[in-house]
Amino acid sequence: MKMITEQSRQIPVRDEVDVLVVGGGPAGLMAAQAAAKVPGTSVMLLESRGSLGGNMTQGLPLLGFLGRKGNQVINGLPQQFVDRLTERGQATHHRACPLHVSLTMIDPEGTKLLAWEIMKESGVKVLMYVMMVDVIKEGDEVKGVIIESKKGREAILAKRVVDCTGDGDVAYRAGCEMAYGNEDGIAQPATLMFSMRGVDSRKLRDAVADHPEIYDIDFIPNEFFRPMDNCTMVGFRNQVQQARKDGYNIPVERTIFMTGMAEDEWWVNMSRVSGVDATDPDQYTKGEELSIRQNEEIARYLKAYIPGFENAYVDRVAPFMGIRETRRLVGEYVLTEQDIFDCAKFEDAIAVSAYPVDQHHPVGGDCTLMWCEDCYDVPYRSLIPKKVDSLIVAGRCLSATHLALASVRVMGPAMAIGEAAGKAAALSIRQGVQLRNIDVPALQKALRDEGVYFRD
Ligand SMILES: Cc1cc2nc3c(=O)[nH]c(=O)nc-3n(C[C@H](O)[C@H](O)[C@H](O)COP(=O)(O)OP(=O)(O)OC[C@H]3O[C@@H](n4cnc5c(N)ncnc54)[C@H](O)[C@@H]3O)c2cc1C
Repeated sequence: MKMITEQSRQIPVRDEVDVLVVGGGPAGLMAAQAAAKVPGTSVMLLESRGSLGGNMTQGLPLLGFLGRKGNQVINGLPQQFVDRLTERGQATHHRACPLHVSLTMIDPEGTKLLAWEIMKESGVKVLMYVMMVDVIKEGDEVKGVIIESKKGREAILAKRVVDCTGDGDVAYRAGCEMAYGNEDGIAQPATLMFSMRGVDSRKLRDAVADHPEIYDIDFIPNEFFRPMDNCTMVGFRNQVQQARKDGYNIPVERTIFMTGMAEDEWWVNMSRVSGVDATDPDQYTKGEELSIRQNEEIARYLKAYIPGFENAYVDRVAPFMGIRETRRLVGEYVLTEQDIFDCAKFEDAIAVSAYPVDQHHPVGGDCTLMWCEDCYDVPYRSLIPKKVDSLIVAGRCLSATHLALASVRVMGPAMAIGEAAGKAAALSIRQGVQLRNIDVPALQKALRDEGVYFRD
């Protein structure tokens, strides 16, 4: 590859804060809010896109709030977020589900607005349309980041940086050890979500409940879908096979769609772009093009083969193709699938997750779910880089194996882990210690005081 040398230059320091959160998705929002709740802590949130919420704006349900025994395992600031949406009619209850354990539908637009309100109330400075492109380091300590925007390059100095970019951009730039994908280096596939309105939901639900011999549903008894309540329908493999025989090009083995906030609205999670590394813009671009084409065919398929969709039309398309997996930190502890299946308890627990290992196969169009008996702890050490200081990682770039990430990446745990990371960042400044040396019981107490659930 042809190379050039970029000239060094002086750049302005735009700001100096205590805690800098990079990435305004579910993890980043909770991290910023939690840090700002520690008195005297100045907090800034950077976001490269034009809205807050990350994948919460894609029409996806929040997964992971309930455990397999029906108890609530995600509480604290994430639950407060849901409560405020619920007051506005923009979130549903947490519905227990045999397949996905629990589902909480949220309104994407309401989520964007509430995120803004909470950041403002909390005194968090938000800066959008900026991409974190590099870190400022002294020895092994991160001292801030470099951002790039239409204004050019600027620096932001910070005592602690919380990496909530999903892709581990800060950790990667800071030289932390990172992992990617499965044993063959292939990550879970990406999907561009879209919604359809004008669905006759009563007809759909009755057809599914009355005719299990025609409409095969994965794992869940068909009758579950009769009530007009939150659900994700996964199945209709017969219909996919028939459509393929009829010449349709369907990229997944089974049909998946989920309720939206309106009665006639369903969000479709069926495009599938495999083998794309979303940290490479060339590959991401190709993925965007492929998924938009796939969705055209999928909408045609739904109208032709799924009862109730006959008069449906595409209403909204997610603002970007959703990325399930890219880089993961290899931190002080790597959470494993065995930890999940063993319902592992850790002394340094900072969150509890009960979501199954939900693996969209990196190759091929299928998906496998594997559950633990109850729930498992997420240890603080899985947020901490092995060598680099003043940096903590939360959300889907935390330190976990490929399969463990297939569980812990969903938004309920991502929010809870974000809350813990933001709180730790602020408390470590107050305690005058490095993040890896924080007084963990004090952190746990602060989280408990905020309503976070722990197993006793
Ligand atoms: C197709 C799909 C379906 C899914 N289904 C569900 C589901 O039904 N329920 C569920 O709970 N979870 C689901 N997930 C998983 C879940 O959405 C994510 O794992 C979760 O959102 C991770 O949260 P996060 O905050 O770590 O990352 P994100 O939500 O990705 O947020 C990261 C934020 O950081 C910003 N950012 C990134 N890099 C930079 C940078 N360098 N500088 C500045 N800003 C940056 C991004 O713009 C983004 O806003 C799904 C994921 C996908 C892709």
